[in-house]
Amino acid sequence: MSLPEKILKAGVVGAGGAGFPTHIKARSKVEFILANGAECEPLLHKDYEIMLKHPAEIVEGMKLMHAAVEAKKGYFGIKSKNAAAISAIQNELNGSDIEMSYLGDFYPSGDEYELVYNATKRLIPPKGLPLDVGCVVNNVETFLNIANAAKDIPVTEKFVCIAGAIREPSSFFVPVGTRFGDIIDFLGGSTANDFGIFDGGTMMGRLTFNLDEVVTKTTAGLILLPKEHYLIQRMDRNMQSMNRIGKSACDQCSYCTEFCPRYLLGYDVQPHKVMRSLEFSTTGEKVWNQYADLCCSCGLCSLYACPEDLYPREACDQGKDYMKENNIVFEQTKPLRVHPIKEGRKVPLKQLMKRMKLESYENPTPFRSDFPAPQKVKIKLKQHVGVPADPVVSEGDGVKKNDLIAEIQDGKLGANIHASIDGIITKIDKEFIIIEHR
Ligand code: SF4
Ligand code: SF4
Repeated sequence: MSLPEKILKAGVVGAGGAGFPTHIKARSKVEFILANGAECEPLLHKDYEIMLKHPAEIVEGMKLMHAAVEAKKGYFGIKSKNAAAISAIQNELNGSDIEMSYLGDFYPSGDEYELVYNATKRLIPPKGLPLDVGCVVNNVETFLNIANAAKDIPVTEKFVCIAGAIREPSSFFVPVGTRFGDIIDFLGGSTANDFGIFDGGTMMGRLTFNLDEVVTKTTAGLILLPKEHYLIQRMDRNMQSMNRIGKSACDQCSYCTEFCPRYLLGYDVQPHKVMRSLEFSTTGEKVWNQYADLCCSCGLCSLYACPEDLYPREACDQGKDYMKENNIVFEQTKPLRVHPIKEGRKVPLKQLMKRMKLESYENPTPFRSDFPAPQKVKIKLKQHVGVPADPVVSEGDGVKKNDLIAEIQDGKLGANIHASIDGIITKIDKEFIIIEHR
């Protein structure tokens, strides 16, 4: 069986957040292969910990992929400050044509467009993919999953980092489908009486208060913060209220655009203009929303740049939805050229954390391996880009860890799903499968 077939069988998807099925990337032919170990979300150290603990498997997965896509060269994107991870990976690179691509401690150095530019000096065309400039990019954990897939081990665990207001900040593997509440209990609970959870980070993640939500193949980490924290207060607002505040308070200073990393790379993203769509809601949406189309939702404009504490990122998200719903396609006409001031406008992570009042939550999140198999897991049928997987088991069936429980039909974009614990299938519905250990 070829590597792409093994990856498809094992249900490997991008572990860094997007969940794009990896077998598609493994079938391409490119010049460069890149490992993303940048991890720039404040407080999360998942990539750092996994590189320290599993460097051999990560490099093995990268070498396998390197051969499959017939790349001429490989790059590891890691921040220079993570010296221990660099040395662990470097020890495994011997004799290969894989090099380090050192990154500064800025946000968002892990954005694919930034990473590709930093390593190759190539700019992905507007709305394009790394593939368009001869690159394939995978998160470091995805490479570990590729090495496992080559040995016929499917993806049933997710490496997560739990940080913020938690008694024992840590990084560890948990079975896919584990409840957030079970993870928090295992770490001794929160240090706050009442707390919210940022699933995926405070910049690009999602705020939830639901402890029954579960880990998927793309869960990068959970950040707990007290309910009274500035970020929770700020994000726990509905969109109408964010828009109302923006409409009345945006003074069009354009700081949001001046700091936008995509704008500084040369893309025509202009959040201050998108904010105008709030002010000209019945006459200007079509015009102004177009400036949101190339936004990567990094959050820097809302959480760092705007002196009025407004929501330009959220306005861009709505702008992108509006364009999709109305079939409006934006074509960048201005030449793609890196802004001459780009290097001077980079935002240091420390400064960003200070602005977000997160400094006191910065702690090491050491690796541990003692997370017990939960009694019950709820495994989603769609944890990836594409269509949901179709169940191949029935209620009442007994399954063992690693058994296939849902598969993707031939020719469809998606990923297979496997049992993450031994047990009985107690419920199947159109969104998930529950397995209970009995
Ligand atoms: S930075 Fe804030 S106030 Fe200034 S244009 Fe952007 S959204 Fe408006
Ligand atoms: S979220 Fe804001 S700063 Fe980030 S890419 Fe979009 S417009 Fe630019």
